[in-house]
Amino acid sequence: MTIQTVAVVGAGQMGTGIAQVLAIAGYDVTLTDVSAAALETALSRVSANLAKQVERGKLQGIDGKAAVGRIATRVALADVGRCDLVIEAATERESIKHKIFDDLVPHLKPGAILTSNTSSISITRLAGRTPHPDRFMGLHFMNPVPVMQLVELIRGIATSAETFSAVHTVVERLGKTPVIASDYPAFIVNRVLIPMINEAVFVLHEGVGSIVDIDNSMKLGANHPMGPLELADFIGLDTCLSIMQVLNEGLADPKYRPCPLLVKYVEAGWLGRKTGRGFYDYQSEAPVPTR
Ligand code: NAD
Repeated sequence: MTIQTVAVVGAGQMGTGIAQVLAIAGYDVTLTDVSAAALETALSRVSANLAKQVERGKLQGIDGKAAVGRIATRVALADVGRCDLVIEAATERESIKHKIFDDLVPHLKPGAILTSNTSSISITRLAGRTPHPDRFMGLHFMNPVPVMQLVELIRGIATSAETFSAVHTVVERLGKTPVIASDYPAFIVNRVLIPMINEAVFVLHEGVGSIVDIDNSMKLGANHPMGPLELADFIGLDTCLSIMQVLNEGLADPKYRPCPLLVKYVEAGWLGRKTGRGFYDYQSEAPVPTR
């Protein structure tokens, strides 16, 4: 099946980036969100990003304005039904995702492919509620989408070879590099990355090292571009905790126990950069460690 029209459900950080890279690659995109304000922000963010990329000469041979013009925004989910491919990138809550697919299914055109950008929820379980689980799979972009090269492709137990091949072709047309992950909690990247971050929080919790020393250790000692606590603040501590909980519940191994200090920060509403405070405080110009 050839894909030309794509619906992106959820216009947050991920949905906005996904719509942007699709439009640059020449796809016709319908971006939808329950929040009209989120759609407005998304569109102005894409316009600003593309203008900046054109200015820096990074969009050789691509008309930035025409790319923005390929993104239509809609609040009503029913309006996205005629698309060849749906990429669900709404809030990471299973009940929300089930409701989106339930509401979408009656409006889909025959043969449409459904995908989810979920970081951790079972693709097989999401697919199981739809009438054609063979046409459902995981399509997991990394944040920020326009910058990060990798995309994880996740087959549910019923995903057909045709579905996989059609989605694989989209990833190639975006100029991204696909890796194939089995449908197990948190797939590959987050299965490795988030327990490492959780361990860094245990190291802090047990007083083995300070925030700055932990981050410097991994930057200078393991050549990581960002320290694990700095990175946790960038991802969002609530997201990190939610992925640890999925690993803990899904794999039932005590090594995935979320660090109590991570739980405490989330309970305090200190979620990282997005709330202005996490392991670092971002109120002043240079981030200040909070412990
Ligand atoms: P976000 O909070 O920035 O955006 C979520 C958007 O979904 C919001 O604009 C919200 O209004 C919208 N939404 C909620 N319910 C909806 C509904 N019923 N219909 C349509 N829109 C709805 O979240 P995000 O960081 O963009 O994450 C989105 C998805 O991408 C999640 O599944 C997350 O796990 C995954 N993801 C996130 C990252 C990351 O680093 N943030 C990385 C990879 C994958």
